[in-house]
Amino acid sequence: GDKRLEDLNVADTTCGYCAVGCRFDLYSDGEEILAARPTEEEDAPVNGISTCVKGKFGYDFINSDDRLTTPLVRDENGEFREASWDEALTRVAEGLGDIRDQHGGEALSLIASSKATNEENYLMGKFARQVLGTNSVDNCNRLCHSSTVAGLAKTYGYGAASISTEDLEIADCILLTGSNTTEAHPVLATRIKQNVRDGADLLVFDPREIQIAEYADQYSQVAPGYDAVWINGITRYIVNNDLHDEAFVEERTTGFEDVKESVQEFTPERVEEVTGVPHEEIVSAAETIAEADSCVFGWTLGLTEHSHGTENVMAMANLAAVTGNLGKPGTGVSPFRGQNNVQGGGGDMGPLPDNFPGYQDIADDEIRAKFEEAWDCDISGEYGYYTTQMFLAADDDDIKGMYIIGENAALSEPGVNHAEDVLEELDFLVVQDLFLNETAQYADVVLPASSFVEKTGTFTNTDRTVQMVKQVMEPKGDSRPDWEILQDLANRMGRAWDYDDTAEIMREVNSLTPLYGGISHERVEANGGLQWPCPDEDHPGTERLYAEEFNTENGKANLQAVGYSEPAETPDDDYPYTLTTGRVLYQYHTGTMTHREEGIMKYTPSDFVEIHPETAESLGVESGDLVTLESRRGEIVVPAQVTDRVGPDNVFVPIHFAESAVNRLTDEEHLDPAAATPEFKVSAVSLRAAGPE
Ligand code: SF4
Repeated sequence: GDKRLEDLNVADTTCGYCAVGCRFDLYSDGEEILAARPTEEEDAPVNGISTCVKGKFGYDFINSDDRLTTPLVRDENGEFREASWDEALTRVAEGLGDIRDQHGGEALSLIASSKATNEENYLMGKFARQVLGTNSVDNCNRLCHSSTVAGLAKTYGYGAASISTEDLEIADCILLTGSNTTEAHPVLATRIKQNVRDGADLLVFDPREIQIAEYADQYSQVAPGYDAVWINGITRYIVNNDLHDEAFVEERTTGFEDVKESVQEFTPERVEEVTGVPHEEIVSAAETIAEADSCVFGWTLGLTEHSHGTENVMAMANLAAVTGNLGKPGTGVSPFRGQNNVQGGGGDMGPLPDNFPGYQDIADDEIRAKFEEAWDCDISGEYGYYTTQMFLAADDDDIKGMYIIGENAALSEPGVNHAEDVLEELDFLVVQDLFLNETAQYADVVLPASSFVEKTGTFTNTDRTVQMVKQVMEPKGDSRPDWEILQDLANRMGRAWDYDDTAEIMREVNSLTPLYGGISHERVEANGGLQWPCPDEDHPGTERLYAEEFNTENGKANLQAVGYSEPAETPDDDYPYTLTTGRVLYQYHTGTMTHREEGIMKYTPSDFVEIHPETAESLGVESGDLVTLESRRGEIVVPAQVTDRVGPDNVFVPIHFAESAVNRLTDEEHLDPAAATPEFKVSAVSLRAAGPE
């Protein structure tokens, strides 16, 4: 209609798509979001007045006809029928309760949602431990940056970005790897490009010549799966030529000699042979980094989604530390996080098998006692299963029931042929989501959840800023916010939760979590965001980590020697090509949200496979022809997109579509030993023409 803006509901809120954490005012008219407009600039620390296409226009999904508006339960014929909340929650309480009572809580697992708020994720962890009695609670971080968290925690102490977003604008040099920044983190890419225009050096190392490479002073095409090799090659050149920051190394690190010794095997010949990067490029990158006054090291999943992702991250952490690029303006490490709230909900709030909120180790007796007392329950000090391990454990019948919240595991897990079998075989599955997604098809009960515009709470973005999320419309249909559903369920399963709102939940987080000790809704609101660590009410938050010391016992960065590792699967005669997967700008993850956007679907209606022109010629295919990709675990058919963005030995397929489900090809078994991250970025595949579309 022609309503004027002032007649509409409005709330200043935080974007629900990616972890850049853009803020804007959302306007709604009853059940429809009508517009996203810039908010007061000082209240939008990350984006100012800009947003990307998803934040600006991506709201059709909220009022989509596909939204779940009532609970669903299976009838006697195995079909879904609508049910009241009372009936559905009773079924869930019985289904989960029976397994708990017969087999112990360890036979249950919960997958939490990084789309939900911090407060809700805190409750998901609490629910798993207190109500279900299991430590097998995890979330999507396992599939992406858990190796970042493990690698950075081990060397520096915090598994998070050390920088503030503004450092991307003031650094003299930025090294980016495995990050398709313009497509996956558009607003950060804009800030980087601006800095490059103002004279900063940009170095891009990536298997694909992605768009951000066009802005780079140096682009190096690397073979997928060997990132620690070229990173160690750069470190070797720097330390062998005394280009490192001696004072920083001396005062603020341990392990330098070990690192110096361990990088010696990464000779120029070896680096070039393994990664394809010529020595001149290693030298020029090393000199650029060493000569810059300040450098930020940014990465996304190209570095982490490997069977040795933690080693890749530690190699990067070594490079940043030996060059003294930590703790000062324009310096630091910056893993760009994916889901809107994966830093907060997926990590900080501790729906994790090994950590309570604030990365407090569950194996630590004192810490465990604190939570046992606060939550009035016994908690085992033995770590639970990580998400990827839950699916393997369910195969062995160690997990019999799952509660999956806002995670489309049937498409997002590695090796989804296996994941589908597991979901089918479970004794009891509850799915809580906005949509009847691929995973929900296997559920016994489906609970309709509300989206981020229908509730209030906080998200924590990629630079550790906690920001308000505010309700701008009533929950669609009978859907409910996750925290209300959890509270109702906890109370049906013998507890007495009594939270009036999410501000109250956050106060409980404050009292148990030193990292978030001073982060209340009132303060976040008043400050327009607060960066952790923020231990108490008087603390202003922490713009940049490690200015004074590292979060380790000795206060130093403890550098770790990283040797040579190969991907779990390397090409051979049967599967001669290397497949990598990733994202495109207009789509988001498994598409549950963006596939409901008409405008977006016009741009990117399906997945595709990028194939180098030489490879395409040898297969006899042209752009648009269908190609069959086969791995040891399955096959898919997708149209070819012939392009020299990829090298002749590599192909690329996006992750967004159920019809092609590229994770039929990926490997569920070979996980990073420290972080259990799967190797999405390297699968050996064969290719053959499948005929015209
Ligand atoms: Fe939302 Fe990310 Fe786009 Fe910002 S860059 S508007 S946070 S999707």
